[in-house]
Amino acid sequence: MRLATKAVHSGIEHDPPFRPLSAPIFQTSTFVWDEMDHEADPMYTRYGNPSRRSVEIALAELENAKDALFLSSGMAAIATVCSMLRPGDHVLCQRDVYGGTWKLLSKYIAQMGIDVTFADSSNTEAFSNHLRDNTKLVWIETPTNPTMRIVDIRACAHAAHSVGAVVVADNTFASPVFQNPLDLSCDVVMHSATKYLNGHSDVIGGALMWRDERFTVFLDYLKSAGNNPSPFDCWLMRRGIKTLELRVRKQAENAQAIAEFLATHPRIESVHYPGLESDPGHQLAKSQMNGFGGMLSFVVEDGANAAKNAANKLKLIKIAASLGGVESIIGYPPVMSHAMLSENERRQRGILPGLLRLSVGIENVDDLIEDLDQALS
Ligand SMILES: *Cc1c(COP(=O)(O)O)cnc(C)c1O
Repeated sequence: MRLATKAVHSGIEHDPPFRPLSAPIFQTSTFVWDEMDHEADPMYTRYGNPSRRSVEIALAELENAKDALFLSSGMAAIATVCSMLRPGDHVLCQRDVYGGTWKLLSKYIAQMGIDVTFADSSNTEAFSNHLRDNTKLVWIETPTNPTMRIVDIRACAHAAHSVGAVVVADNTFASPVFQNPLDLSCDVVMHSATKYLNGHSDVIGGALMWRDERFTVFLDYLKSAGNNPSPFDCWLMRRGIKTLELRVRKQAENAQAIAEFLATHPRIESVHYPGLESDPGHQLAKSQMNGFGGMLSFVVEDGANAAKNAANKLKLIKIAASLGGVESIIGYPPVMSHAMLSENERRQRGILPGLLRLSVGIENVDDLIEDLDQALS
C-alpha cells in the first residue's frame, strides 16, 4: 500500500459485534483477566492499550518500519532513546537541533557521565571527525530548525555506522510524506507527533520507529518510565494521521508560493526554504526528500523590532509556538524554540534578530500572502 492508503487504514480494526468503521477509544486504565493464571493482553494501559496500538501500527507503516512506539511527547521519545546510554558513552549531536533536544542532552544527559558533543553537520566530513570509538548515539535533524538547512542523511548514517553508533533522525519537519530516514540507512526515526502527524494542534505526542528488533527495548523503558500517552490522545492522533498526506502536500504547495513571494519582497533580506532553487540545500533536498515541506523562515530587514512589529500586524496568521497544524502560525525563535540558547549561540546557528519562522497551514494561499503583505507594508 502507498502512504495515503496506509494513513487512512493501518491499525484500524473493525471488531465484532459492532464492527465500527472508525476505531473506538479504549478509555480504560486496565483490562479484565479471564482467570488468575490467564493474564489479560493488554494488561494495563501504561503497558499497552488498543488505542495506542492502532497509532503505533500506522506510525510503523508510514516510515516503512517494523515497529513503532507512541509516547506522551516528542521529548519523551528523545528521552527514551537516551535510555540506551551508559556512563562513559559519547553522543554526537548535530549543533542545529530543536532547543529541547539541546537542553536534554547538554544538561541532563551530560550530568550522567555521558560525553555530549554538538557539531555543525552542514559538512558531513567535518561532522564525522567528532566521532569516537565510544560514540553510541548520533543525532541528526533535517531540515534544521529554524534555518531550514539540509543535512546529508545517508552520509551521516554511513559515518555513524563506521564506529558502531546508532543513528537517529528527528524527522518532525519533513513528515513521513516527504522523507523516510530508515530508507536512507538510519536506525531509528523520531517524530514530535504533536506537529505534522497529528496536524490539528490539539495533542502532544511523540513517535519512535525502527526495523531492528533490538529497539523493542524502548517499549520496556516506556513501561518503566511511564511516558505513555492517554487513550484519548491516541484516538485523536490516529484520527489526525488519516489526512496526513493531503494536509502536508497542501502545506508544501502553500509554502513554496509564500517563499517565492517573500524572496522578491523588498523588506525581506533572505528566505530559508529548500524548495527555492537558490537555496543552498535545494539539490541535497531533492536527492533525499520527495517534497520540501511546509516550514520556512525569513529575515525581516532592520532586525528584531521590525520582525516583531510585522508579526504583531498579522491578522490571519497567529503568533504561537509549535508547528505542523492546519492553521498557519508564526514564531520568533529567540523567545520560543531557541529561548534556552544564548544570543551568541543563536548567532552561530544563523538565528539572526530579524528571523521569523512560519509554519504554513492549509488555508487559501492568497489569503496568507495578502496577510503577510499587509503586515510588511
Ligand atoms: C516540537 C519538537 C520536538 C519536541 O516535541 P514535543 O512533542 O513538543 O515534546 C522535537 N523535535 C522537533 C524538531 C520539534 O519541532
